[in-house]
Parts: sequence; C-alpha cells; structure tokens
Amino acid sequence: MHEQDQVKAGKAFLNWFDGTDSKTFEEMANEGAKAEDALYAASNIQIAFADKGDQQQAFINAADYSDEWAECFRAWYICQAKQGEGWGNCNTLIASKRWDTLHDEPEATWQRWHCGSCGARYKTAFGLLIEVKKGGIGCYILAEFPPNHMGDFKAAIIQQRYGSGCESPGELFARLPDLRPASTTFFEPLLRGWKDHGKK
Ligand SMILES: [Zn+2]
Repeated sequence: MHEQDQVKAGKAFLNWFDGTDSKTFEEMANEGAKAEDALYAASNIQIAFADKGDQQQAFINAADYSDEWAECFRAWYICQAKQGEGWGNCNTLIASKRWDTLHDEPEATWQRWHCGSCGARYKTAFGLLIEVKKGGIGCYILAEFPPNHMGDFKAAIIQQRYGSGCESPGELFARLPDLRPASTTFFEPLLRGWKDHGKK
C-alpha cells in the first residue's frame, strides 16, 4: 500500500516539475513545496505496527528493546563514551531492556538511555555490536547505527514474532525476552545499573 502512495506522490512531484507556466511564481513554488512534502511523507512511512493508529510509534519504540532480530542475529547497543584522557572508551555492552532510562515508560517519546557502568547517555555515534550465532558460539563485529528504514524493518520482524494480539506497547515490552550475549567468556555481567550506585 505505501509503495502505491510513494508512486502517486512521485508522479505529482514530476507533474509539477514538468511545469504549468500559466501560474505565478509564488503559486508554483507553493505547489512545489507541497508536492515535495507529500513525497517526503510517502517515502518515510513506517510499515511496522501500521495497524496501531496513533500508538504506532510507541509500539515501534517498545519493539526496539529486543536486541534479537532473528534467532542467530542480534544487534546490541554499546557504550563507547570516552572515560577521560588515557582511559579509552567505556565499551560496555548492555541489553536494551537493561539500560537506565530517563522516563519510566520504556516506549516514551524523547526517551534517553544511560550506561549502567559509566552513566553516559547513549549516542547513535556509539553504534552497535553485531552478534552472529553459529552453533551456540557468538561472533562479534562493530557496526554503525542503522538507518531509519532498518529500524522499521526490525520493528516489523518483532511485530511478527511477538506482536500478535498485543494490546499495548507495555505488553509488547513485557513479552520481549531478557537476553544475554551468546559468549559468556568475553562479557562480564554488571550487577547494578548506574541509577543504583550509592544505594544499599
Ligand atoms: Zn558507559
């Protein structure tokens, strides 16, 4: 369906580009701007949870707390915050459900995530650590933060795996498994998050 919308918006834009020179420049510019907006909107429609109406984005946000895209493919958010001159980066891998969050509802808009080890706020520039499982053994490679359409693709996969009959983003979040990396040799678990530091 959304591909048809893209084609329609694309044609409208091209028709405008071909020109209707009977109009004033202002009218033409306005129409062009509208056609461009429509084309942009049609190109950026998300397919995941499209049936959820105004809750769509909240469901997509909740789906992002699954690090496992497919059984043998995971993408972990990692903290690469600099730890001061000569100390290198934090390099902590944290399961999505275990990041300290600014807002209590995980799917909240404008959510922020903080590292449980150093407290730094997650930045997309930190990227991800990809885990490919083969025979129960994890192979790891650093990757850049994926573009938006990959996020939509991931959310669509999560919808298929866990979204059936799900009534709220919170319910979806609760259904997502608590994951750990396949390799227990290279990763040492953190027992308490940053928010809990100083607590008994
Ligand atoms: Zn950190």
